[in-house]
Amino acid sequence: MNTCTKYKLILSQFLAASLCTSACLAADLQAEGVQNLKAKNYTKALECFNSALKEQPNNWQLWQNIGSCHMQLGHNDAAINSLQKSIEIGGLHAGQCTLMAAALEGRGQPKQALSWLTLACKIDPSRAADPGMQAAIRELQDPLKNPGGSPDSPDYLSGLVDINRWREQDMPLKVYVRKNVQLPGFYERFLGVVREAMEQWCQASGNAVSYKLVPGPESASLVWDYTDRPELCTSNHEPGLEGVNEMRLRMEDRTAAAGNITVVVKKGPNAPSFRDRQLILTTCLHEAGHALGIHGHSPNTHDVMFLAASPEAKPKLSQRDANTIKLMYKRDWK
Ligand SMILES: [Zn+2]
Repeated sequence: MNTCTKYKLILSQFLAASLCTSACLAADLQAEGVQNLKAKNYTKALECFNSALKEQPNNWQLWQNIGSCHMQLGHNDAAINSLQKSIEIGGLHAGQCTLMAAALEGRGQPKQALSWLTLACKIDPSRAADPGMQAAIRELQDPLKNPGGSPDSPDYLSGLVDINRWREQDMPLKVYVRKNVQLPGFYERFLGVVREAMEQWCQASGNAVSYKLVPGPESASLVWDYTDRPELCTSNHEPGLEGVNEMRLRMEDRTAAAGNITVVVKKGPNAPSFRDRQLILTTCLHEAGHALGIHGHSPNTHDVMFLAASPEAKPKLSQRDANTIKLMYKRDWK
């Protein structure tokens, strides 16, 4: 064997070994990432997939997993970019389409989300029979989840399903915050958050809306409850918002007659702590918006009345929220 051949041999052995190491490393990282993804440790999972990507930048499944982590973390734009990359490299798969739908829904684009889910069912017809998929499609067709209008207009009044205002003679609204006997120690804190939420809306309405606290539910038009039982607040309309609002309307003119808001302040009786105050305030602002007559949602993620919770708190009404309530209570007020 001459030197040249020998060198080539060593080089090829070295190359194979290094390729194997790289592939094995990527596979290990990928497996670790999947484990973290399953355990909902999305930040850790993302780290693993990103490290694996350094070894295998053209692995479409890695790009899909990265998209999945970003989507779960609420980084919807990054999710969409990663999923597009995954499709470019690996072609179209049903999993990418489902994730794309979730990211677009998170971005307030339910129509586009729906078309990606439909595509997922076309690619993999077995998915169309899945009850979870059918429920997701039904939900995306729900008018409450399809806010009309532009996300950039000064207000979102025209895109609402209905407007159910209180009458002028109902002002100030009689508000009762009910003490939860299971969580009596949280009452004062909850009361403070409710007051802050109500005051923001009153101020935004130019004080066309006002309220006063009343000592009992009998004399109240709007009752607030807080709970540590998230199952009481499950609603298809409020994904992740941890709150629910029930309204009674007057038959003759569809104005608001009574309201009851329930807010999750703790995710289960055994949860180690209460939810973050800013997140509770976000929920209170959103549900108060419904209780003041906003039936429907905004298509803009920056508005308190956006249709789903975003990971970051929105403790202040946006200008569009404020403009909307102002217009609602200005128009042919009676
Ligand atoms: Zn809502």
